Amino acid sequence: MATTIQHYQDLGDFDYGASRQVTPLIRRVICKNPTPFTYKGTGTYLVGRGEVAVIDPGPPLESHLDDILSALEPGEMITHAFVTHTHSDHSPLTKQLKERTGAISYGYGPHGSVKEDDPEDRVDFSAFISDKEQEQYRKEFDDLPEELKREGADTEFSPDIFLKDGDIVHGPSWTIRSIHTPGHCSNHLCFELEEENSLFSGDHVMGWATSVVGPPDGSMKEYMESLKKLLPLDHEQYWPTHGPAIPQPVEYVQSFIHHREEREEQILGFLQGGPQKIADFVPEMYEKYDKRLWYPAAGSVHAHLLHMVETGRAEVLDDHRQPKLTATYQLV
Ligand SMILES: [Zn+2]
Repeated sequence: MATTIQHYQDLGDFDYGASRQVTPLIRRVICKNPTPFTYKGTGTYLVGRGEVAVIDPGPPLESHLDDILSALEPGEMITHAFVTHTHSDHSPLTKQLKERTGAISYGYGPHGSVKEDDPEDRVDFSAFISDKEQEQYRKEFDDLPEELKREGADTEFSPDIFLKDGDIVHGPSWTIRSIHTPGHCSNHLCFELEEENSLFSGDHVMGWATSVVGPPDGSMKEYMESLKKLLPLDHEQYWPTHGPAIPQPVEYVQSFIHHREEREEQILGFLQGGPQKIADFVPEMYEKYDKRLWYPAAGSVHAHLLHMVETGRAEVLDDHRQPKLTATYQLV
């Protein structure tokens, strides 16, 4: 049985849209886009004083942009917008932010490969979801503002400035270094704030849950390497885009690495019982989770299996031999 990770979920009392000074250099405004995928919503950070940098503007909600701008003191302006990655709850608002402020945007680049929609290659957990749950999920979705209904990749965003691993950007009161951390998404960057020895960890290391790694853009091999990459950097604190600060990040990242190793063991355990399809064991593996998360969880299990196929530990049993989401896998 997998050990449970001690997650950080306590954001304390907060009001959506209100700015809070969380460290001398960092303010945070939480966007009202809570879903089973975003926890309490997107935490947008404002960094520095005077000429301010924003980390992850958020989903395309005009009201969130108003809240970000209201966080500024008289005489302050937003000059830089850093984007950790191109998912719909992180990058889309950059466009309106640039229009309203003239800020320059920074990111790794546009979104990577998008999974082709193959109706033959979808998992279906509806048999496990009761009518009452279906109705509740549908209602929650219908109640979302239109701007929040599009989830997943933001294929429209492209930064003004493309950052590579190790690039440094200076503001008058802050220094940000980009750290390329592919895995959750191939263009994921974490941003180190040198003055506070802290890291904006985006969705690579989140406070409230582990990251989803969805192929083809997400890669388990890269995700594990990107976790290990953070360990020697020894930051004092992480500020994830979802959830509160992570006070002991090295131990926490180690627990994530361990958790993934355990998940892989678990998958091996299922396959030891004979050939399996992902959808056959995800409900058991993720029994305690919201069933809506089973779909992205199936993606993470797929990422594990792709990695196991690449390293010659598992193979596809079907005639087509393609390591698809719906393929049958067996141990080698
Ligand atoms: Zn996110």
